[in-house]
Amino acid sequence: MAAQFPACSGSSSRSGASSRRRRQPGKPIPYRQLPFDYEPADVCDCGEKMPQWISWSDPNPGRRYRNCKIRSIAGGIGCQVFKWIDDPLDAHHKQLVRDLRDAVWDRDEEIERLQVEIERLQEEKFLLAARKQSNPEPKKMRGFMVWVLSVAFVICCTWVMCRN
Ligand SMILES: [Zn+2]
Repeated sequence: MAAQFPACSGSSSRSGASSRRRRQPGKPIPYRQLPFDYEPADVCDCGEKMPQWISWSDPNPGRRYRNCKIRSIAGGIGCQVFKWIDDPLDAHHKQLVRDLRDAVWDRDEEIERLQVEIERLQEEKFLLAARKQSNPEPKKMRGFMVWVLSVAFVICCTWVMCRN
């Protein structure tokens, strides 16, 4: 039987204050089953088949639930029907799933950080190349200095030879 459960936790909700690290939204793994790919249809008070989700909240990690489609997908109020499909996990498995979830989120966060760093470095490389191309002065100056010194050397030699 569908139970009224106004404080339902969505697949991306982060209820519970026991998280020790920063959380990012989104499910840590792709679902093996799409929300409506289950049978027989479980219908809410609106007469609609309810989508089935996986909770990633701290209190109920990995636990499947169904809720009103209008509420969860269409963004409306719907009928507020919410029901758990799985029994709560024991403390050990709950912690295990939380740790695995956190490991995936940490990895995703690291990948995101590295992508930002790669973009920054590519931009820096591009700017350095552009600056080098538009400012070849040091090389030109070196050539000019060699020319000046060569002329000065020739003048000096000529002056010394003429003196003698
Ligand atoms: Zn409904």
